Amino acid sequence: MVEARDRAVEVLCDPSLSHVVDLVAWPVPDSGGVCVANAFGAALLSADGASVLRGRNPVGVQDPLAFTPLAVELADLSPANEDNSYPWAYERLSSLFAASAAPDLVVVHTGKHYWPLQGGHRGEHGSLNVVQSRAPLILSGAGVLARGMLPLAARVVDVGPTLAWLAGAPLASLSDMDGAALVDLAVAGPAAHVVGLLWDGCNSNSLYAMAASGELPNVARLLSAGCGLTGGAIAEFPSVTLVNHTSALTGVGPGRHGIVNNAYFDRRSAVQVLTNNAATWHRWSEWLSPGVRTVFERVSGPTASVNEPVDNGASYSTFGLVRAGGSNDGAKSMMDDFLPDPSMDPLATQEHVAANKDYAWSSSVDAIGVDQVLSLWPASSPDEWPRLMWWNTLLTDTGHHEGGPHSAIARDAMRDADRRLGVFVDHLDRIGALASTAILLTSDHGSEGAEPTCVGDWDEPLREAGIDFRDEAYGFIYLGRS
Ligand SMILES: [Zn+2]
Repeated sequence: MVEARDRAVEVLCDPSLSHVVDLVAWPVPDSGGVCVANAFGAALLSADGASVLRGRNPVGVQDPLAFTPLAVELADLSPANEDNSYPWAYERLSSLFAASAAPDLVVVHTGKHYWPLQGGHRGEHGSLNVVQSRAPLILSGAGVLARGMLPLAARVVDVGPTLAWLAGAPLASLSDMDGAALVDLAVAGPAAHVVGLLWDGCNSNSLYAMAASGELPNVARLLSAGCGLTGGAIAEFPSVTLVNHTSALTGVGPGRHGIVNNAYFDRRSAVQVLTNNAATWHRWSEWLSPGVRTVFERVSGPTASVNEPVDNGASYSTFGLVRAGGSNDGAKSMMDDFLPDPSMDPLATQEHVAANKDYAWSSSVDAIGVDQVLSLWPASSPDEWPRLMWWNTLLTDTGHHEGGPHSAIARDAMRDADRRLGVFVDHLDRIGALASTAILLTSDHGSEGAEPTCVGDWDEPLREAGIDFRDEAYGFIYLGRS
């Protein structure tokens, strides 16, 4: 195995692949260390720091504020490895490799790699670099200090403890999490109600710039009553959806929650596990490691998880309804039965609904999100208002994938999400709940634009070198498992 891995590393670090391979990483057994390598160097990462083995350290720069704000990102799209930044590289990689389903070797795409034949899009995420890993993070409302934009960064694993703390869970009860509550951003004392908003796949710089320019008036409204972190919240690795929804809502990384990618290989059962799929979202808890608790299980009072696979312990859950409905082929077919017609939705950008079926479907799913959040806050029954409500928005990821993070379709998707947010915030205001509610807005990862001319594939040279492997989710290499 070690011999096959070393041969694979040699193939993957060949300069002929450096336009698509940003770096490769693998665990060092027993020591807890992680090796990283690419065409330009190699290093051994540990809790004590990095020791360079050859050339330069591929993750030598780890500034979470790199490429902020938007103008800085736009001035250097697709930065090369030597100019890029990899915040918390050791912490994030070692968390992944602590999971039993982790691959033998990870291949990290360069930001510019375009791979439509293997399912890649014009906008992508999943890599270790800062732009693909950075979600926005805004905290607003009850108990939050109105300090505007702050030159700080957090991690996606900090979202769970922050929500639970705001909703009254004692800090000591959250100390088993990997992340920590962002206690410096709010005054002591819980809020009566807490709302967590996840806008999937939003580019953080873009969201803040659009709020500042008046294009996202409801995000701006949150910011005016709170603060935003310029460096956002850095996703766990890989910076993909289900890994990070789970990290946000459990406060632990993949090494502990066990969901290591949108698709991975379970060595024990020798089957491929496909997690991020509308047909299987409702089965999320089957993949969670035993004993890992969600924020819904740590807060007392009514809780709600809207359009979100991560839902253990929530008093109300969209996918709980799907499970109770007993649909064999899962959430997608069952949801399709009652999704509204997006062409009739005044909150949706109709140009994209008509032209793009993914945009249309995501708009329908987000429309039932609005219906659910309104019904969870009945004007006449304040005692039913959730202590903690989490609301997942899908369309933003669809828009970012389709056109890349700074495209018209990505920006329109954020405008649609902002209109839906406005309907909800206006409702809270009308029923008298807004002043006693803390609101956190984040995402599960960032988004970076691929370069359509930057194509290439590492699987072919690996096969040509006679290496026996399977490549899950395009980058997770399991050796001897073809
Ligand atoms: Zn996502």
